[in-house]
Amino acid sequence: MSVHQLSIGDIKCAVLQEGAAFMDRDSVSARYPNVDPPDVAAALGDSEPSGSLNLLFINSGGTRILADVGFGEFGPSGMGGTLQGLDSLGLSPTDVDIVFLTHFHADHIAGFFTPEGEAIYSNAVFVTMQAEWDEWMSRWASSSAEADQQNLARFKALRQRFRFVKAGDEIAPGVSVVDLQGHTHGHAGLLVESGGERLLHVVDLLHQHFQFANIDWHFSFDTDSEIAVQTRRRILQHCVDEEILTLFYHLDFPGLGKVTQEDGTFIWNPAG
Ligand SMILES: [Zn+2]
Repeated sequence: MSVHQLSIGDIKCAVLQEGAAFMDRDSVSARYPNVDPPDVAAALGDSEPSGSLNLLFINSGGTRILADVGFGEFGPSGMGGTLQGLDSLGLSPTDVDIVFLTHFHADHIAGFFTPEGEAIYSNAVFVTMQAEWDEWMSRWASSSAEADQQNLARFKALRQRFRFVKAGDEIAPGVSVVDLQGHTHGHAGLLVESGGERLLHVVDLLHQHFQFANIDWHFSFDTDSEIAVQTRRRILQHCVDEEILTLFYHLDFPGLGKVTQEDGTFIWNPAG
């Protein structure tokens, strides 16, 4: 369990590490369907694949927001650090006011429920994009897998506690929603702004460090590969132009840094 605390103006933030999944090089190479696996391996070089899960916690004027919930009790071994991270901040899940779901992949939402199906963040309002809700209700409804049927029933039962937002909406003072569609239809991040400082959480805009130099490589879990490429290009360029502190969910903990550009190629500069 690791926690990295930072302030954006008056807003207190922390990156909570849910865990780090060991990724073997062959399975990483197989995840880019429009690239030959040896080319992925070459881009990876001697470096290890990224496999962290970095959750953003925000306290804006007393409103406590958690962006995604990790695997909770349902992940591979070594997961579950989010609850320990909250505990180290003196908080329990019932203290969270808003759970913002960036998208509905298991590594972001599995920890939403107890094994009995109760919502763990029992006092929170649940916030996501309408397009995300619609995509997954439809995907789960057309799947016969038990886990999908269970998710469908559990989330539908909580429908009244969800608030649907659109890009630009402020969910708390200085915390607004950013459209990142492509990875999923309603994939969204958060922009934290206070006192002239900013943090942009871009979640699953990309999954491996070598994608900065290869932004047109498709990723096997992207719902719409072409839109994902357009969104990567647009958001990374924005990060460069604005010199903005950026957070990625899957890069090495804490996943914070800045994007720069040289000769048209994007470069990741982890915060030291
Ligand atoms: Zn993810």
